[in-house]
Amino acid sequence: MDCFSSGSSAKGKLRRFERMTPERIEEIQRLVKNGVSLRGVARETGVSYSAVYRHAKQFSKRQTFVDFSVFSEHELGYIVGFFVGDGSRIAETRSGHYGARFAFDAKRDAEIASLLQRLFRKAGKSVTLYSEGTWLAMKVYSKNLLVFLQGFVRYAKCDGEVHKVLVNSLNWDRAFALGFVGGLIDADGHVYKNKRHAGHFGIAITTVNPTLTEQLVDLLNRLGLKPKVSEVKPCRTSFSRKMTYILRLGKAEFGKICGEMICVKHEECGCDAKRF
Ligand SMILES: [Zn+2]
Repeated sequence: MDCFSSGSSAKGKLRRFERMTPERIEEIQRLVKNGVSLRGVARETGVSYSAVYRHAKQFSKRQTFVDFSVFSEHELGYIVGFFVGDGSRIAETRSGHYGARFAFDAKRDAEIASLLQRLFRKAGKSVTLYSEGTWLAMKVYSKNLLVFLQGFVRYAKCDGEVHKVLVNSLNWDRAFALGFVGGLIDADGHVYKNKRHAGHFGIAITTVNPTLTEQLVDLLNRLGLKPKVSEVKPCRTSFSRKMTYILRLGKAEFGKICGEMICVKHEECGCDAKRF
């Protein structure tokens, strides 16, 4: 097959690149399919990286391994917490793509996005952010990330809605649970900043997921905290008919754990609570 004949508009562009025989392209694709990284193939064959990328990217399973051994319990919990709030699973069986997608508010959450990016980079997985309207998104293709997440979160149907439900959360390690709360606050929570002095008041976590709300209350109770939950009925003008749950921790309650967690929104308040 002549790979340069795909669409006339792309033709002009492609001319700038080196020309390769179909055999050469096949060889490159075979190496990539066998698991050699795109950079490795470029090095081995002497073909430029951009050409290898263009011809064989779709076969690349590079960097699919996230090395979880580099993470602390806090960090593991943070990743799971953020995933529960603003993540979704990627499970495309046909193309063989597995992993997770994380979404960030482009204006407010740039710091949070770069924290997650740093965490994944530390685990040997470099990921890029791309914008989707007012959102930033990050797709992490990795089967072992998905398997890891499934150990803590599963999807369950409840009143016709599919919700994330925590797995075995009453047995979570304290450091992991604290990390989880920090990640969830960064995704779906708010830290009430003290505008006059550095520091903060309490926090609120908003969700439409009733099971998660109950599980969070139990989890926070186990951390020695007493959250308050309020239910907000969907307003008549809203298209959404879902009940919203707001879970709050007052200043004193949140103050018991705030120095022990990874949480960008908390850090941005300039709280001087000691970091663990
Ligand atoms: Zn604090």
